[in-house]
Amino acid sequence: MRFLPVFLDLQAGPVLLVGGGEAARTKLRLLTAAGARIRWFATDSNHDLGGLENAAQIELAESDPLVADLTGVIAVVCAGAGDIGLAMSMRARALGLPVNVMDDPSHSTFIFPAIVDRGDVVVAVGTGGASPVVARRVRERIEAMLPARIGDLAALIGRWRKQIHGRMPEFSLRRRFWERVVDGPIGALVLAGRTAEAEAALENIGDPAAFAGAWAQGRTEGSVTLVGAGPGDPDLLTVKALRALQDADVIFYDELVTSEILDRARRDASRIAVGRRAGKAGIGQYAINKLLIDAARSGKRAMRLKGGDGFVFGRGGEEVEALRAANVTFSVIPGITAGLGAAAEFEVPLTFRREALGITFLTAHRAGDAGDIDWSTLDDEKTTVVVYMGMTAAPSVRAGLLAAGRSPQTPVGVFARVTRLDSQCAVGILDDLPALVDKVDGGPAILIIGDVVAHSAPWRHQNLSHVISGLLEAAE
Ligand code: SAH
Repeated sequence: MRFLPVFLDLQAGPVLLVGGGEAARTKLRLLTAAGARIRWFATDSNHDLGGLENAAQIELAESDPLVADLTGVIAVVCAGAGDIGLAMSMRARALGLPVNVMDDPSHSTFIFPAIVDRGDVVVAVGTGGASPVVARRVRERIEAMLPARIGDLAALIGRWRKQIHGRMPEFSLRRRFWERVVDGPIGALVLAGRTAEAEAALENIGDPAAFAGAWAQGRTEGSVTLVGAGPGDPDLLTVKALRALQDADVIFYDELVTSEILDRARRDASRIAVGRRAGKAGIGQYAINKLLIDAARSGKRAMRLKGGDGFVFGRGGEEVEALRAANVTFSVIPGITAGLGAAAEFEVPLTFRREALGITFLTAHRAGDAGDIDWSTLDDEKTTVVVYMGMTAAPSVRAGLLAAGRSPQTPVGVFARVTRLDSQCAVGILDDLPALVDKVDGGPAILIIGDVVAHSAPWRHQNLSHVISGLLEAAE
């Protein structure tokens, strides 16, 4: 990020506009609509305002902008000003004044974002000047998503803020108070255009602390949310998980959670790594349970964030038992488990009409796990086998399935770091499974075994390349 979005107070002083033609008039329209006072130096001496509304906010300047008095000016904008714009940029920068030269980020110390304007709610979208088209597309999506009256809601809260805060000194309680206003019936009334009723409902709140959900002692009730973060791509978070990430005060995350996912959390949430890392043991399940319980008991909204889904080889079950025993309020949000992420990314249909009628998810972490599995139950070739934590145990997985009677020719795939930018895969046959694991550059990886792998994109790709090299050889 080179340009930090900040909001300029247009009441603080005039904006200096240097330039002419349609470019300058576009900026005049934008700035006057936003409420700016503008001192305009028309470099082509054409001061025609062309029917512009709010013309009273514009002061026409006749002098040379390069020597004009800049006292009190809050920003300089050059649009359609040619070389005078560049000289003006130098001057403004020497004085430390923010300056924008239209379509020229290298001479600008600020740039104009694409704007979504809902009154008190303003969204600025920037691409660092790289692509206004991308910024506009993002803006369109936000336009479509934001309720039309969201600005009214912000304005209502703005009117009541001081009064409520005077009655409720505790910061976290205040935040919850406003969350309940925004997310509850009062917010719904405003968005439906019934602001007067909303205002009355707000006025009728006798005990704001109780409304915010405080206990008798004035402390808020804490809770724990167990959230599945999915296999790595942040866009695979569920809508519910994303909302919970915005609400959590403290996030206990494991080693599979990517930094892109943590980036979607509330900025001021504490983030605490509790997983194993690069061979180092984690703090242990008992200690994690205790951290979750302590956080909730101290009134925090704690989140336990895990890779994939918490209930698929994620020890979510143990955490839920501990929370239940401790009488802590909790909820569970599912995530996309790595096996499903692998299937989607590499186009492996885990079931297929007549070919694959069932799926088994199993773990073969330690030699012990593989030894504990009754492989004979996996003899049915119409069952797809998805193996978690199976890289080291790949030889045992191969041996177990062969002993069960699976053909050594059964298609298999090793899918590493799925849905992340550096994902990788190797496909082949069961007989070669351990060698395939060595072909990917490290885990985490999922093994998928079954005829369905022959439908996958990498399998088709590999076969196609065989066919092509066969054809080429034949041609030689
Ligand atoms: N709860 C997780 C699984 C945790 S067990 C889930 O539902 O996905 C850890 C194992 O998950 C790893 O050894 C690997 O087999 C698999 N795994 C997790 N993330 C993965 C990823 N991005 N790509 C491939 N495998 C992954």
